[in-house]
Amino acid sequence: MSTLFIHNAHIISFQDDFVNGVCDSIAINGNVIEAVGKYETLKSLIHPGTQVVDAKGSTIMPGFNDSHIHIWKVGNLKTFMLDVRGVKSKEELIESLTDYYLNNPHLKWITARGFNEVIWQEKFMPTKIDLDKVSVDKPIYLIRTCAHIAACNSKALKIACIDADTKVPAGGTIQLGNDGHPNGLLNETALGLVANKIPPYSKEDLKIMILACREEMYRYGITAATDPAADPTLIEAYKEMNDSDRLGFRLNILPIILPDGSSKPFPLPDTYSSPFLTINTVKFFADGGLSGKTAALKRFYKNSQEQGVLRLDKKQYKALSRQCMEKGLGVATHAIGDAAIEMIIDVYKKLNKDFPSTIKRIEHLGLPEKKQLQAMATNNIACSMQTIFLDELGKNFIQYLDADYLNQCYPVQAVLNHHILMALSSDAPVVKNFNPLKGIAAAVTRKTNEGETIAAKEGISIEAALKAYTLNAATIGGEDRFGSLQNGKLADFILLDKNPLVTPIENITAIKVLATYVDGKKVWSLQE
Ligand SMILES: [Zn+2]
Repeated sequence: MSTLFIHNAHIISFQDDFVNGVCDSIAINGNVIEAVGKYETLKSLIHPGTQVVDAKGSTIMPGFNDSHIHIWKVGNLKTFMLDVRGVKSKEELIESLTDYYLNNPHLKWITARGFNEVIWQEKFMPTKIDLDKVSVDKPIYLIRTCAHIAACNSKALKIACIDADTKVPAGGTIQLGNDGHPNGLLNETALGLVANKIPPYSKEDLKIMILACREEMYRYGITAATDPAADPTLIEAYKEMNDSDRLGFRLNILPIILPDGSSKPFPLPDTYSSPFLTINTVKFFADGGLSGKTAALKRFYKNSQEQGVLRLDKKQYKALSRQCMEKGLGVATHAIGDAAIEMIIDVYKKLNKDFPSTIKRIEHLGLPEKKQLQAMATNNIACSMQTIFLDELGKNFIQYLDADYLNQCYPVQAVLNHHILMALSSDAPVVKNFNPLKGIAAAVTRKTNEGETIAAKEGISIEAALKAYTLNAATIGGEDRFGSLQNGKLADFILLDKNPLVTPIENITAIKVLATYVDGKKVWSLQE
């Protein structure tokens, strides 16, 4: 018997034989989809106890799945940390840090995230000289939008014992000023030197952040997500929420194996599976990001002698990845530049011989070469990509990449042409607005938020982009319990006011999520 029956809808099911516009009804029994089809065929499932909902012509599709979103960090910017994404100049940055410092006298550290100097007129990152204007007594730790570069004031450097003689950790940089002393800017693994001195968040703090992010996820119709970098405390917090039924969305956690600022790996996690929480893959970082020129390239960044940072010791990575796969764990590796991608594919190729069906993911896949895509296809390597970067960070890409690199930047169509399993995701809080419809629009139009187009030939169809944000995102996580609307699958779905498959692409981000359902229950609805 159906507990919930919704009719008069356009259903985008993504079932195998899916044809848009054929189904108009969905029947739910408890937390499971009982049937999807035409009203006339399904109406016998309606019984006296069934809640019948008239969708009034709205569209029903699987809930979005953000396959790479730093959930607690998104929540942190709503709770414990100052959000400086979008500040338009260094002056504005210093002003907001100063306000925050003055208004929060109880804080032992001033932490903030999100500046992007490429959108400022002066184009220079803040250094300790700038941050010392906010305070010389209280440590300040300011993370760039990419999270691969941080700026510290003198007090923070002092606490972390960073001076001209400090040994630079492998895979990192301590930037020096003209005087030969650290200028406050740290890259990649060197962030750990300061970050490890900041009092860690408690599990209870983390839970507050997770719930703050979940609220926004529901609003965008996101019912499933992958947290692509979790340390042991965060994993504990998620597990406790799951055990007490407080998680409220499908979560795949990718535990970090190598913490920043240390070459000693965390113990390998055990695999874990429950209806809401899964651990089946671990995470490594091979390089940095494009927006701050730390992604590892084979050639130079435009007008510079820089090629980014390779963070992994290949031998250690190879050995650890093998241990993970022997334990039944998949491996997901952050790799953006072509040099980083090459190294990862080389290791995955060897692993694929012994572990052909174990999950092998590349996170981001910013600048793959054609031959690398071919190797991915033949070695069962999947990817989670972020076309949403083209929108918010496209300006950085245009500034730092030559024409050839721009041409191969987040090449989603080429990836699909090679029949590689591709999911889309946001990597928030790297981007401020993680509405999946924004990522979908950028996947189709390839436009930056200033209207420039990056590699137009790489635009994909709306249908392919929707699938990458739902079904493929589940599959890349080794998940077949949700991701499409199909008999027997978990009832995670959303109602939209318009059908994205027939909406002109320029209007797609204006589509409204009317209601979000997880596990057969409505968890959010639009209040007009
Ligand atoms: Zn990320």
